[in-house]
This record gives sequence, structure tokens and C-alpha cells, in this order.
Amino acid sequence: MKIDRALAPVGTLVTLSDRFEGDENPLGILSKGAVLIKDDEIVWVGKQDDVPSEFDLSEADIQDLSEDTVFPGFIDCHTHLVFGGSRANEFDMRVRGDSYLEILQAGGGINATVRMTREASFDELYDLGMRRLDAMLREGVTTVEAKSGYGLTLEGELRLLEVIQALNRDHVVDVVPTFLGAHTIPETFKTNPREYVDLVIHEMLPAVVERGLAEFCDIFCEEGVYDVETSREILEAARGRGLKLKVHADQLTASGGGRLAAELRATSAEHLEYLREEDIPAFKEAGTVAVLLPIAAMYLMMEKVPPVKSLLEQGVPVAFATDFNPGSAPCLSLLTTMTMAAILYRLPSDEVLRGVTVHAARAVGREARLGKVEAGFQADLAVFSVGDHRLVVTTFGGILPSRVMKRGRWASLSAPCEPIMTTL
Ligand SMILES: [Zn+2]
Repeated sequence: MKIDRALAPVGTLVTLSDRFEGDENPLGILSKGAVLIKDDEIVWVGKQDDVPSEFDLSEADIQDLSEDTVFPGFIDCHTHLVFGGSRANEFDMRVRGDSYLEILQAGGGINATVRMTREASFDELYDLGMRRLDAMLREGVTTVEAKSGYGLTLEGELRLLEVIQALNRDHVVDVVPTFLGAHTIPETFKTNPREYVDLVIHEMLPAVVERGLAEFCDIFCEEGVYDVETSREILEAARGRGLKLKVHADQLTASGGGRLAAELRATSAEHLEYLREEDIPAFKEAGTVAVLLPIAAMYLMMEKVPPVKSLLEQGVPVAFATDFNPGSAPCLSLLTTMTMAAILYRLPSDEVLRGVTVHAARAVGREARLGKVEAGFQADLAVFSVGDHRLVVTTFGGILPSRVMKRGRWASLSAPCEPIMTTL
């Protein structure tokens, strides 16, 4: 087989592959490794000296990365990528001591962003999205999940999902679309929330699915937003139409969203600060990924921490994501998120790396293709000029990849110099 690209030798190759795993080497690390790439796919991984002769390297682009560490491309598996405006004013309210729900009741929160997003044109939202993806790619992030949820009308939600579709089409980063029509109760339905639930189930969901605009359906299951029974109704309707499920669950109160996610065999449940210990076995049983969002917890100045140790001890896959959004996590940096996850949850860097590769791939339904450097996987790689892979997690800012590969091609890493938030 003629090989297009050969990375050999690689100083440290963090494969995350089961083939190279063991108690002593849980990340499947190879030194003096080699990666062979054909088109957009990895076709062979191993020790540099073991490359089989069946591979013809005569015309391959051979790169010597003997001073570098190569990771699978990182995956940001929970973002609210597309919105207009900013919510800088709310930060002052929060440091004064106002709670998340108090800010929501004062006209801030998600509904404020809904107003600002409605004022932004399709092109403005698209341009912001492109810049945000540029900034993420600059950190070695090659796949991003993106939710709607700032439209909250049929047209508004479809428009956001169409922006996400255009971003996925035009940007080198893959964007996984999630319909989050049930993000909050829109202001116009405050006195009759049931009417909005019916709109989500009977008008939005069919239109989203018919146009092929989403892979997942998500919901904000929380006291005062969508209770467990309403969440179940919406999620079951989404599943009935072929969407996979995610749940914003147990973030501010122990409202039972985590248990619901496991009962419905959701792909993932997010936040989980108030997840109850007794609900953890159901996660394991259902294969539901726990997606933890340390930036949001820190930004909301929460003291409660999810039961991370129990989740890991019981074999639940734990992923980490930025939760990029204007209110509770205005942070595009998955690298900062990784460092925060290690500190906030007292985790070794290897566990954090698993959480932004293999486990994050599972959280976006791409575990057969992404998150590992292994034959048959997509050639998405992040190359860092560091000798110790742990530095990428344990250094607080300042370390960026020297190169990023997406689908077998080196990406151009021009840093964005235009703003990623707008002022209205
Ligand atoms: Zn979120």
C-alpha cells in the first residue's frame, strides 16, 4: 500500500489505544513510535522499527517528530458554540452574590442571549462561529459538539442549526449538531410553558429531523426549568424520531436528571454536580458518559463537585468539555479546561487526557472513528513540542500544539485576531 504520510519517529506517541494499554501504560504510550496515514485515515501504528514492508513509503511525506509528543486530536464534547452578544454585565451581579437563578429572574441568563442572538444576522453568527472554531483548532481541538438553544422559536432554532451545519461544512473542525430547543422556557411562554413543550415536540423536533439538522437532542433538566417528567416526554419524543440523547442534569440541584439520562440510555449526561451516589450504577449499566464541565462550575463559583471518584471507580466513562457559552463558561480553551479538571477534581493528567479523547469521542457518538491513534481511526492529531505528555495538562496556559492534523492534512493554525464575542 502506498502511504501518503509517515510520522516517524515520534518521541512520545499517546495512542489511547487498547492494543498498547496495560496497568503500567494506561494511555498506550509508545516511544520512538510511527504513524502511517493514507488519505484521511491512520493505517498503521507501532514502533518505528516494526513498520511492515508491505507499506510503500517511497513517495510518502515523512516527518521526523522525535522531539515531539503526538496525541489524538482533542474533542470538545459540550459547547454552545453559536450565539450573539455577550453577558459581561452578569459577572458583576455574580461577584456581588446574586445566584444563577436570581440573574435568570432579573431578565439575564439564557433569555438575554436569546434576545441578542435573534438580533444577529446569519452571517454574523457564522463569522463568530468560524473564529471560535479557529481558536479551538489552535489548541489541537479537531471535533466540537455544538448546541442550538438560543433561538427558542421554530425559525430561530432551525436558523442556529443551519449556522452549525454551515460551520461543519466550511471549517476544517468537525462540528456535531445538537438540538437544544428545551434550553429554557422562553419569556413569551412564561405563563404557559406547556404550550412551548408542545411546540418543541410537535413542530420543532419533526422539522429538525426532517431537515437532518441534528444528531442529538439535549434538554436543561432542572428545578424551575424542565422537570424530570417533562424532560422524559421531550427526550422520548426525540428518541422516537431517531435522535440520540444528552441531558443537562443535576447541575444546580439534585433534580434527578442524571438518573433520567441513564434510564433513557442517553449517550451522555452533563454537569452532574448534584448527581446522587445511588444513581451511579445506572450510568455504568446504560453506558452513559458523564460529561463534567469544570469551567462552568468555577465561573458560577460553585462549591459542590460531582462525585468524580465514584464515577471512575465504578467504571463510568468521564469526559471533560469547555461548555463554551456567554453566561457560565465564556471559555473556548479546552487546554485550560483540562488543567481545571485536574485541579478541581483532583485527577491525574492521564485521566484528564482520556476525558478529552476516548471518552469525549463516545460522548459525541464517534468512538469507532475518533479519540485514538489507531489503525482504522481518522487521522486527527495534535502535535506538541514537549517531551513529557503530562505537561499539556499540568501547565496552566502557554503551551500550544506546533501542528494539528485533521483528516490526514496539516491544518493551518493562523491565530484569530478578531473578537469571538460581540457587543450589542
Ligand atoms: Zn451546557
